[in-house]
Amino acid sequence: MNEVIMAKYGEIALKGLNKNTFEDILVRNIKRRFKKLGSFEITRNQSTIYIKPLEEVDIDKAVEVLKTVFGIAAIQRAAVLPKDFDEIVKQGMPYLEEALSTARTFKVGAKRSDKKFPLKSPDIQRELGAAILEAYPHLTVDVHDPDITVMCEIRDTNAYLSAARIMGAGGIPVGSSGQALLLLSGGIDSPVAAYMMAKRGINVDAIHFQSPPYTSERALMKVESLCEELVPYCGNIRFYCVPFTEIQEALRDNCPEEYFTVIMRRLMMKIANHFCRENEYKALITGESVGQVASQTIMALGCTDRVAEVPVFRPVIGMDKREIVEIARKIGTFETSTLPYEDCCTVFTPKHPRTKPVIEEVEAAEAAFDFAPLLEKAIKETEIKDFKI
Ligand code: ATP
Ligand code: MG
Repeated sequence: MNEVIMAKYGEIALKGLNKNTFEDILVRNIKRRFKKLGSFEITRNQSTIYIKPLEEVDIDKAVEVLKTVFGIAAIQRAAVLPKDFDEIVKQGMPYLEEALSTARTFKVGAKRSDKKFPLKSPDIQRELGAAILEAYPHLTVDVHDPDITVMCEIRDTNAYLSAARIMGAGGIPVGSSGQALLLLSGGIDSPVAAYMMAKRGINVDAIHFQSPPYTSERALMKVESLCEELVPYCGNIRFYCVPFTEIQEALRDNCPEEYFTVIMRRLMMKIANHFCRENEYKALITGESVGQVASQTIMALGCTDRVAEVPVFRPVIGMDKREIVEIARKIGTFETSTLPYEDCCTVFTPKHPRTKPVIEEVEAAEAAFDFAPLLEKAIKETEIKDFKI
């Protein structure tokens, strides 16, 4: 029996004139992700993408991969059947066996987009329901909260029968909202921020500041592992690794300690600005959340934003740690994020940072030293690495 995976759009279905562009990007993203899984024919029709294996493939694995692709609301594995009701029942019953024999209650849903098919949707529901009850007498119908919904769709070339509807990743396809640059630390929050903006269709690349020997080689490897873990959601990630040691030392030696963190954050932004200008990054992304630490007060965030040349997106701004951790666990970055290696932010941390920094004072403190040559040097010495699907 032929089996296909049907991927149903969520939000894209609501797009007007641009719908085609979104669909094209989604199909391209799926093709890219499926390259390593085998040979598939991927087509789209009536707000559904059909993924048909052209050889023996691991369908479970394919579904798992599909669950990370943004732009898909629901995934259904379905048997491809002739548009003949008797055949649907005859071939469909064995296909549904595994699902139906373990369920206690079920309902049948039907959708007939081919209006030439002789049975109307309610007829299909009724007759298919009766056939299922006859074949699986232990089952009862529950239209409100069934264990299983059997879905029968009559479309233009075939009928499709499926038992399980799996939730997709939602959102809109990566690449449909332009590109942005994520400030990626080794912590819990910034990888979650990347996931959330990729979900809104943004193509995310990452910049990381490291301060050897204060930060170790292993700390860098941890951040690289996070990039690898984000690739399934974000697609290819270009990773910029900026040497930050000299800047931090100059900061320690020349600026008041209480402003250390906020100035450091501004210098990070200034370097990030350069890469935004040089590439097509139209926004920066951080994992900041109001009040989480002294450097993330409204006023401190305001001081940072003053130097940013593009909008700064902070998708976890209103979330507490528990909510962020929940997402980190779901997307699989939590374990890596909690490995105990240091970040450059924890180097020379002031004992009493200013929680209400005043912009004029920050600017004056920062002007006490000419950071420009060091920023330029750091930019020149930045190493670039690509993480690919
Ligand atoms: P995270 O869990 O993301 O590390 P955090 O709670 O540890 O966040 P901070 O260390 O204050 O908070 O960092 C706030 C944000 O600044 C991070 O979410 C990240 O976007 C950025 N950031 C911090 N350190 C670095 C770094 N070494 N390289 C790049 N960006 C960084
Ligand atoms: Mg951090």
